[in-house]
Amino acid sequence: MADMVDDKTSLEDVLRWASQKLGDRLTFATGFGAEGCVIIDAIGRAKLPIDLFTLDTGVLFPETYELWHQLEARYGVTIRAVRPPRSIAEQADDHGPRLWEREPDRCCDLRKVGPLREALAGFGGWITAIRREHTPERATAQVVEQDAKFGLVKVNPLVAWTHDDVWARIYANDVPYNPLHERGYPSIGCMPCTSVVQIGENPRSGRWRGSAKRECGLHLTADAEEKSA
Ligand code: SF4
Repeated sequence: MADMVDDKTSLEDVLRWASQKLGDRLTFATGFGAEGCVIIDAIGRAKLPIDLFTLDTGVLFPETYELWHQLEARYGVTIRAVRPPRSIAEQADDHGPRLWEREPDRCCDLRKVGPLREALAGFGGWITAIRREHTPERATAQVVEQDAKFGLVKVNPLVAWTHDDVWARIYANDVPYNPLHERGYPSIGCMPCTSVVQIGENPRSGRWRGSAKRECGLHLTADAEEKSA
C-alpha cells in the first residue's frame, strides 16, 4: 500500500489507505448522489470497516429514502441517519414556515452543517464524494486534505473523476442509483431546493435555483465562507 495517495490512486486504494490510517475514526457522509453510490459500492465490495451516515434533513425525496434502503440491503451495511435536533414542524415554529425560501443558508446551517459538525466530532477523518468538476469551490480540492472547518482529515477519492467515469462505474458494477437522475435531476438534495435541469445547463443549476447559493456549506472552506460573507 502506498504511503501517500494522489489523483492517480484508484478509488479502492484510497479507501483502503484511509481505512488503514484512521481505523474506526473514519466515516463517510453520503448524500446518495451517483458518486456516493459508487463509494458505497467500493466500501461494500471490499468490506471495509468504514462508518457510513447520511444527513436526513426530513425533506429528502421519497426516491432518496428508497435508495438508502436499497443500498443497505445490497451491500449489507448500515447507513446511520443523522438528523437535526428540530423537526421541520418545530423549525417552522421557531423561524416561520419554509425557511429554505427565505433564508436557505440558515436552513442549511440548522439542518445540515450543525448536525454534520456534531456527527463528525470524535472522528479523525471523513470521506466525501465531491468532484472538482462540480463547482468552482471544489475545483482545487485534493484527494487528501486537512479540513480546517471541521478539524479533521478530508478524503475525496473521486476529486479527479469525470461525470462519465462515475456513470461507467455505476453501469459496470450495477450500482443502485436514484431514479430521479433519469428524470432530469443530475444533482439531488432536499426536495424544496432541487429542481429539474434543462439540457445545456450546469448539472448543479437545479440546486437552490434562482439564488446565488451553490453549496450547502458542508464543503466550503473557512476562507471561502469569509469571502462570500
Ligand atoms: S437544501 Fe434547502 S431544505 Fe435542505 S437544508 Fe438546505 S435550505 Fe434547507
